[in-house]
Amino acid sequence: MTYDTNNIFAKILRGEIPCHKVYEDAHTLAFMDVMPQADGHTLVIPKAGSRNLLDADPAALGPLMASVQKVANAVRKAFGAEGVLIQQFNEPAAGQTVFHLHFHILPRSTGAALRPHSGKMADHAVLAEHAARIRAALEV
Ligand code: AMP
Repeated sequence: MTYDTNNIFAKILRGEIPCHKVYEDAHTLAFMDVMPQADGHTLVIPKAGSRNLLDADPAALGPLMASVQKVANAVRKAFGAEGVLIQQFNEPAAGQTVFHLHFHILPRSTGAALRPHSGKMADHAVLAEHAARIRAALEV
């Protein structure tokens, strides 16, 4: 299994396609999932290219998990969630559809069902507002 430098998240990292950015540092980028399974569904990716967790450089994982934790706390705060689900899929058999390592951050509340994975495209104005809410929660 090889890493394809033309995957959609690599294009986002190169600025070739847009995203609703939530957070960025030297090693990681976080942005809104365009087909959110819950309001506030955010993705965190490493800047280093790897197909998924299985072929990632272990040195990339520390900074990546630090960003996952930081963004998860901000998502929880921004959406008043009771809990946060972190998901990460490896290879198609496990549900992976984009082949650049990423962690899903999903705010959860008791009794609220998740929408389907890779389901319906969200309105961009709504995603922009959600990203702004999370960025504001990161600042406090
Ligand atoms: P996975 O099945 O874990 O590979 O999930 C890939 C995720 O990327 C899905 O939740 C998609 O909704 C999401 N996605 C696909 N294209 C984009 C994009 N251009 N910007 C943001 N999220 C995307």
